[in-house]
Amino acid sequence: MKHFPIFLAVEGRRIVLSGGGDAAMAKLRLLMKTEAHLTVIAADIADDIHKWASQGKLRIVERAMEPGDALCAALFYAANEDDAEDARVSAIANAEGALVNIVDNLADSQFITPAIVDRDPVTVAIGTEGAAPVLARAIKADLEERLPTSLGILARIGKSFRHAVDVLPMGRKRRDFWSSFYFNAGPKAIAEAGETGVIPALETLLDSHILADTKEGHVDLVGAGPGDPELLTLKARNALDKADVVIHDRLVTGEVLELARREAIIIDAGKTGFGPSMKQEDIDALIVKHASDGHHVVRLKAGDPTVFGRLDEEIEALEAADVSYRIIPGITAASAAVANIGQSLTKRGRNSAVRLITGHDTKGYADHDWAALAQPGEVAAIYMGKKSARFIQGRLLMHGADPATPVTIIENVSRVDQQIIATTLAELEPTLTQADLKGPAITFYGLAPRNAATQSRQLKEFA
Ligand code: SAH
Repeated sequence: MKHFPIFLAVEGRRIVLSGGGDAAMAKLRLLMKTEAHLTVIAADIADDIHKWASQGKLRIVERAMEPGDALCAALFYAANEDDAEDARVSAIANAEGALVNIVDNLADSQFITPAIVDRDPVTVAIGTEGAAPVLARAIKADLEERLPTSLGILARIGKSFRHAVDVLPMGRKRRDFWSSFYFNAGPKAIAEAGETGVIPALETLLDSHILADTKEGHVDLVGAGPGDPELLTLKARNALDKADVVIHDRLVTGEVLELARREAIIIDAGKTGFGPSMKQEDIDALIVKHASDGHHVVRLKAGDPTVFGRLDEEIEALEAADVSYRIIPGITAASAAVANIGQSLTKRGRNSAVRLITGHDTKGYADHDWAALAQPGEVAAIYMGKKSARFIQGRLLMHGADPATPVTIIENVSRVDQQIIATTLAELEPTLTQADLKGPAITFYGLAPRNAATQSRQLKEFA
């Protein structure tokens, strides 16, 4: 190998070409595909090159090349179709540090330009070290026929989708997926629906590969949002649409469950026949069992599965059983709740951090950094805080929090029976007792509803 093929980074770098005729134009057509800054230098420059200059594709210097013209150039092309002139300009460029190519002069060139099949970002470079240009052209034509023109678009989109395909086992399964994407489903999607059709096609293809591949089944751990089915992600809807089995929390609403595939088996993991909620180990075992039976299981969890959802225990059970899974995020109660009181979770000049805290954990009332929370301007979203209201209130006041700090309780966020109760830290406990809330509620410490008008406007929407 006398010439070593590489791909040179030319984005933002200079490429200088001396010459203004046919040979120059042929090279420029290639070079204009790059993101380099092109400069063309020649005393006599063809009209087409002027046109490209006026379109901003390159710069023109209309005179013979002079020393200094190739400074900082990564590459230099001599394309004057005049041996003496090419030798003169090459010597200048060489002295100025550019790599030099002389068109049709292999012996004096420091690099050669290969035949290129352009499916950007997929580029095939073909070189024969000048020995057999005919062969290079034949290989190029052959490849061009075999690689769909949409391959570049597919490669770009495919790259952004690579992570999602991690759910498939490495090796043949993944390779099968990609080859059917690049050579079958992808080009078909582009032909039928254009570029926008590609992502949906990828998703459908991935789903079918997941299902076909996994005799052991597959589990989607899906965020169901706070209750309003319109707050589901499209991914969550698609998963529900394909589910064989849906295992859901107590807090997942009927409206969301309605969206599950009609034939799906729906299991309420929030209850057992005896009343108390199911133990986490039993839920883990249930999910694994249905997946092991070869089913597509949707584990539907209120809000976002990563927020106070015991997600990790389920993941560990799935990993231990070698079941493939993916996590589909949802809108957590705190996000939906602040939206409905017209407030932000963080606000410049008020709080640069927000805490999501739980009222109780496995050991009982949960302890937090009360002293930090008691500082002015702090904001916390308190999940599962109904029973622990008195405890939280006591701890905060004891650590010096202002009794007048606003507190907002939002029950049944995003549902028809949503209720917003604005109070203060001092009044928190009596207010809650009096309200006697039956539904799930989230408490915001440090936030008041933006104003009464916001509230009534928002509430009207739910009426
Ligand atoms: N993963 C869920 C939280 C589960 S913990 C999420 O991201 O939202 C359960 C607690 O979430 C409830 O006790 C309540 O504090 C809160 N919550 C969940 N859904 C709610 C809703 N629709 N309205 C108010 N609070 C809700």
